[in-house]
Amino acid sequence: MSKHTTFRIGGKADLFVSADEKSLPQLLKEAADEKIPVTIIGNGSNLLVGDGGIRGLVIEIGKGMDKIEISDNIMTVGAGTLLSKAANTAAEHGLSGMEFAAGIPGSVGGAVVMNAGAYGGEMKDIIMDVDVITREGEYRRLTLEELELSYRHSCIIENEYIVVRARLMLQEKDEAQIRLVMEDLKNRRIEKQPLNFPSAGSTFKRPEGYFAGKLIMDAGLRGYSVGGAQVSEKHCGFVVNKGGATASDVVKLMNDVRDKVMEEFGVELEPEVKMIGEFN
Ligand SMILES: Cc1cc2nc3c(=O)[nH]c(=O)nc-3n(C[C@H](O)[C@H](O)[C@H](O)COP(=O)(O)OP(=O)(O)OC[C@H]3O[C@@H](n4cnc5c(N)ncnc54)[C@H](O)[C@@H]3O)c2cc1C
Repeated sequence: MSKHTTFRIGGKADLFVSADEKSLPQLLKEAADEKIPVTIIGNGSNLLVGDGGIRGLVIEIGKGMDKIEISDNIMTVGAGTLLSKAANTAAEHGLSGMEFAAGIPGSVGGAVVMNAGAYGGEMKDIIMDVDVITREGEYRRLTLEELELSYRHSCIIENEYIVVRARLMLQEKDEAQIRLVMEDLKNRRIEKQPLNFPSAGSTFKRPEGYFAGKLIMDAGLRGYSVGGAQVSEKHCGFVVNKGGATASDVVKLMNDVRDKVMEEFGVELEPEVKMIGEFN
């Protein structure tokens, strides 16, 4: 799984398949018939996969499901589409609203699940509705309200839905203006984030009233390492893989960080990164 996660960490999956829309219901049915557990991943940019890997079948929602259609200011995007591609396509068509997402290295499906957001924008602001498939292979269209989007949360995980596509409502705007905003946000990312090391983005959610990165920095943990995992020296909100980090290294590091921040400031840090698979 290290090949399928931006952390470059994770043991082997028993079975791995990249789905397209035609094969997906059949795969789900066969897995259910054979009682094989199914794990869904997108671009693997918010995942920590255990060193023991993942039992059962991993279904990647990626390139096979990355169709984009545009009608007026509504963009229908396959769940496997990378956010960078979706944002660039919107810009090409003079459609604004996705600028915030251009630098998030996830898929549209993963972004819906996480209600991904940055620089004052979030998926919640642009979603009209989302098509999902249930584990029984039935299609459903969920309205914005039904998605229950809040900070890094949607109803998708608890219902075990699989996002197939999203309809996004965008606004007409001059392409040059859209590109200016995208360029500015890109530069802000390059300046602030440790993009030269593998990571899964912000390790912890933002606790109410605080910034996780600042709490970690103020606790004196900048650069703190366990094995190949390190609290980024550039941005303490990120744990980076300096080379050869295992999932155990990351978990130990995260636990140490949580304990120290609790001890120093009495604030509980909750992981933003999703942990899946078998941890030793
Ligand atoms: C350098 C870096 C910067 C980042 N910056 C940001 C940022 O600014 N803002 C932000 O919000 N996030 C950020 N992230 C985190 C991450 O990119 C987002 O959470 C992204 O939305 C995850 O999408 P993904 O396709 O990679 O999902 P994955 O990591 O593959 O999966 C995340 C969760 O979604 C589920 N999932 C994925 N696809 C589907 C689907 N089609 N149907 C059902 N479930 C699905 C998975 O099971 C898992 O629970 C950053 C990450 C990195 C590495």
